[in-house]
Amino acid sequence: MTAFWTEPDYDDHELVQLVRDHVSGLTAIIAVHSSHCGPGAGGTRFWHYPEPKDAMRDALRLSRGMSYKNAMAGLPMGGGKAVILADRNKTKTPEMLAAFGDAIEALGGQYITAEDVGISEADMVAVSKRTAHVSGLPAQGEDAAGGDPGPFTAMGIYHGIKAAVRHKLGKDSVQGVHVAVQGTGSVGGGVARLLAKDGAKLTLSDIHDDRAKALAQELGAQSVASDAIMGIACDVFSPNALGAILDDEGIARLEAPIVAGGANNQLARAHHGEVLAKRGILYAPDYVINAGGIISVATEHLARQAGKPCDINEVRKRIAHIPGRLEEIWQESDSSKLSPDVVADKMAQKLIGR
Ligand code: NAD
Repeated sequence: MTAFWTEPDYDDHELVQLVRDHVSGLTAIIAVHSSHCGPGAGGTRFWHYPEPKDAMRDALRLSRGMSYKNAMAGLPMGGGKAVILADRNKTKTPEMLAAFGDAIEALGGQYITAEDVGISEADMVAVSKRTAHVSGLPAQGEDAAGGDPGPFTAMGIYHGIKAAVRHKLGKDSVQGVHVAVQGTGSVGGGVARLLAKDGAKLTLSDIHDDRAKALAQELGAQSVASDAIMGIACDVFSPNALGAILDDEGIARLEAPIVAGGANNQLARAHHGEVLAKRGILYAPDYVINAGGIISVATEHLARQAGKPCDINEVRKRIAHIPGRLEEIWQESDSSKLSPDVVADKMAQKLIGR
């Protein structure tokens, strides 16, 4: 591995640790970008990377993203992320998870982990046997939050879409507002269900066609093929599947005045925020609108540290701040003429003292 501090994605990260355990075969990278607002918090990704440098790039980029996301969500948490370098078959053993837990414990709370791509709630339970610096564990009790962050991410996006509709279309309700939802998994499915309750008109799509069709039937909505969703004439395009969908071609196809959804890293390149703005499309910066999940994970961790169950109302209260933060960004964007993604980055950098 080349010196990580010469990588283009290195941004004065405070801690970058390679974890090797020859007994279990674990190779992982733990990165803390900033601890300005608190300990570095962010999930662990379990992924097969073609080259070690791809894993390093992911750890550096994702941990910086978590600094921005946590700061903008008003959480007393810094930005961190871990990646476990899986083999081609994505072999995951209890011994690997135990060794990974030991490595997190050895950092003494500088990094707090949770689920990300390839890591389940059960994996987090296994890691929690070796360290207390872990969140996203199953909820304990009826009024307790915790566990799968997906529904909380969906809740934040639902509030964010309502804020965008108010800002751009001047409507106080989403009744009759047409939302095209890309991806009907944990997040997109949750967003669709919440919007349906308010009488929004929905068009759904998923690369697994049957998934979108089943949900459309349940909600009385339409479904379309996954390659058609970005060209649907609607009020809101809500991306909840893949990242990097907002490239030159994707943006040119959009027939919506608003883009507001939960997928991470929606802008293919940094300048695509500006391309959206030039087309008059209001963009909800992804890491601001999709913070509901980390809000749940962080609140759960803070409650556990205080020896209390995680109060779901506390999570809801924090999520309810997402629309206000978005409105602040859009107003600053309107007055500064900078695109909302640039405004959000500037706000986040200020919050983390950079
Ligand atoms: P998920 O795996 O539950 O759902 C993703 C869905 O998208 C799946 O149904 C999949 O079939 C579909 N999909 C994949 N490619 C597609 C395509 N090209 N067109 C249409 N559909 C496609 O994942 P999720 O947890 O719902 O996460 C969705 C997005 O939100 C991801 O980008 C994720 O990084 C982001 N995100 C999730 C959370 C969370 O709490 N789960 C938090 C923040 C951000």
